[in-house]
Amino acid sequence: MTERLIADAAGIARAGGLLRSGEIVAFPTETVYGLGADATNAAAVAAIFAAKGRPHFNPLIAHYASAGAAFADVVTTPLAEGLAEAFWPGPLTLVLPRRAGSAVADLVSAGLPTLAVRVPAHPCARALLAAVARPVAAPSANRSGRVSPTSAAHVLAELTGRIAAVIDDGDCPVGVESTVLDLTGERPRLLRPGGIGLETLTPLTGALAAPPVVGVGRPLSPGQLASHYAPSLPLRLDARAVTGDEALLAFGPPLPGAALVFQLSAAGDTREAAARLFAGLRTLDAEGGRRGLARIAAMAVPEAGLGRAINDRLARAACRENHPAPD
Ligand code: AMP
Ligand code: MG
Repeated sequence: MTERLIADAAGIARAGGLLRSGEIVAFPTETVYGLGADATNAAAVAAIFAAKGRPHFNPLIAHYASAGAAFADVVTTPLAEGLAEAFWPGPLTLVLPRRAGSAVADLVSAGLPTLAVRVPAHPCARALLAAVARPVAAPSANRSGRVSPTSAAHVLAELTGRIAAVIDDGDCPVGVESTVLDLTGERPRLLRPGGIGLETLTPLTGALAAPPVVGVGRPLSPGQLASHYAPSLPLRLDARAVTGDEALLAFGPPLPGAALVFQLSAAGDTREAAARLFAGLRTLDAEGGRRGLARIAAMAVPEAGLGRAINDRLARAACRENHPAPD
């Protein structure tokens, strides 16, 4: 059975104890709910891949209570330290060369010589990381390829019985995953748009190297799968009109005529929309499926601020490889 824990001192102590004994536990971060394991315990990390059905070539992010702890496991640079100073704790992940002698299991980074590290800001995540006092490897707490969870109910819908516990601390405030920056090359490279917008990052990083090309079934950079975040209903992007057999993911004034509407942000605010994105996809998918609707139609979101992360997730969710659904 999966325990549902409250985010109080007793719940966090219980979750910390479970993690230290090699169990896998879901917990809230400011981005999405993560599925954590002691990153120094290879068997516990393997249990994450098994519970999610995640391919082993897709590396995990290691989470830490402090920048000092994170930088003990990687070879740091002045830019990495400046970014950590500016954005940690927060939704930024840095990929750096793994330090020789790091206790983090090789499986965490899928055998790569690099390691992705992050210090999350959510109070519950911080308290848990302090209680565990070890790095915690944590991908999003959903079945592989599916929509990321932003509430404990989302986690339990897919992982009940497959994980030891979930700490329930309400909805995730940012709602999309961390921005991932690869700092191992000559120039920093954006691997994934996320919770920190590029406009905020580039004053510190300078121009970023072009992101890796994403190809269907071709994970050029690990984890950069074209098909991801898949709802069961097909998803159509950039809708300018809708039909009566469609569920509408609205941004700003909704297009008329949809059978069902989920409003991401009536005011057209990308931050609000990011926080509501995954709940919106899940709601339209479940309710649209029950009503036998043909598909979800998503209105355009501007490619700025958190809009980049939203459009990245929507493009993957709409990927044609998702249908027929992979699992
Ligand atoms: P998730 O755990 O589902 O939030 O995804 C983690 C993301 O971090 C994936 O998109 C990976 O590509 C990326 N990532 C993690 N570790 C590395 C690494 N060592 N090198 C490149 N990307 C990484
Ligand atoms: Mg994920």
